[in-house]
Amino acid sequence: MVKKVIKRKFILDEEEIPKHWYCILPDLPKPLPPPIDPKIRGPGVGILPRIFPKSILAQETSQDRWIEIPEEVREVYRLWRPTPLYRAVGLERLLKTPARIYYKYEGVSPPGSHKPNTAVAQAYYNMKEGIERMTTETGAGQWGSALAFGCMLFGLKCTVYMVKASYQQKPYRRVLMELWGADVYASPSEKTEAGRKILEKEPKNPGSLGIAISEAIEDALTHDDTRYGIGSVFNHVLTHQTVVGLEAKEQFELANDYPDIVCGCIGGGSSFSGLFWPFYYDVISGKAPKDVRFIAVEPTAAPSITKGVYMYDHGETARLAPMVKMHTLGHEFIPPPIHAGGLRYHGKAPTLCILVNEGKVETRAYNQVEVFDAARLFTIGEGTIPAPEPAHAIKAVIDEALRCKERGEEKAILFLLCGHGHFDMQAYDDFLSGKLLPYEYPQEEVEKAVRRIKELYPWLDSLPY
Ligand SMILES: *Cc1c(COP(=O)(O)O)cnc(C)c1O
Repeated sequence: MVKKVIKRKFILDEEEIPKHWYCILPDLPKPLPPPIDPKIRGPGVGILPRIFPKSILAQETSQDRWIEIPEEVREVYRLWRPTPLYRAVGLERLLKTPARIYYKYEGVSPPGSHKPNTAVAQAYYNMKEGIERMTTETGAGQWGSALAFGCMLFGLKCTVYMVKASYQQKPYRRVLMELWGADVYASPSEKTEAGRKILEKEPKNPGSLGIAISEAIEDALTHDDTRYGIGSVFNHVLTHQTVVGLEAKEQFELANDYPDIVCGCIGGGSSFSGLFWPFYYDVISGKAPKDVRFIAVEPTAAPSITKGVYMYDHGETARLAPMVKMHTLGHEFIPPPIHAGGLRYHGKAPTLCILVNEGKVETRAYNQVEVFDAARLFTIGEGTIPAPEPAHAIKAVIDEALRCKERGEEKAILFLLCGHGHFDMQAYDDFLSGKLLPYEYPQEEVEKAVRRIKELYPWLDSLPY
């Protein structure tokens, strides 16, 4: 039987790579609370000018809505951009839903995720300002490999502190980084004061993103020719990722459609923000043809936006960088061993937190068992194997598509398939052999963490922000 032919992919030309990134700061419903430097108990950027180049720091507080993408960066983007927008015809048929499901696929980049969109930009700005080496942390290895790739392309050295648990469980990502020329250390490491202190107390500490960040920052602070690169949470990172949503908008024109729902997974919130900000801009500037719902999805094992508390906290265990106001599980959070490595961060991007608080973005949390079930269904329908992180978004999309079926609604749903799962076969193997547990982070732990932050900084409550 011949089924109705539906166009499955929407492809742009290299010349159609956007020429500007979109920065949401001037369009937020409320201004961003300033970073707080605990040393002065008030607004201040603390060490940031010593770890970031000037151009990056300027983007961090940019009130310009459109930031030009340097031609050198666009030229590198041409290696894999524009990325395809797919219509998930196979998944729609499996679900028998009247909804139209679309996904923007970032797994076609050499590192296999959205992360090089910012890594390449950061390496470029560092190179322009005469920096010779960049340091960073990595959890599952996606960010580390993206920065290693970016640094290689612009002739910089790269040092990556990789969370020890991942270093041991995911040796292939380390090899990838090393092939691209980076030096990779298991964190906590003996290379830094922060690492040594932890190893002294706890030689078997499996590491965490927070600890690895501390090591990478310390390394940058103690070397003049070195700066630090960050993979998520900061405003400039989210801005660089908007190349994704801007392309998607052009592709929806090709499809002669417009999304009712835009969905993505959130670790720090950069890939989802990169996808949804340009559509949000359409909505607030009256350019969207309809109301759009935005849905952010996280794991129940690291539920910073659904269970965390909105307050000032540090982004890293060593408390080196200034505090920002965000939903947090506390900077001492040690993530449970779930497979979505990229979603185990204790905080979230401050811009996303504001949009959630103001009711502009909905949130969901799912456990990894239901998430991998969704990933399997997607794989059966579409062939492509998703990374465990975007599988969280897929779970939410499937739920929405089934709701459309119940109600007979023909909605267009867009989600970000921000990476492929080719390096995650251990996770899929554990799933197929029934070894995954539906882990939920306990509320008491959140309350404990909040008490701890307030003990450290009793003056926090009296801040006017
Ligand atoms: C890093 C990563 C994430 C989480 O980070 P965000 O800043 O929330 O995007 C999600 N998916 C993949 C594939 C990643 O590499």
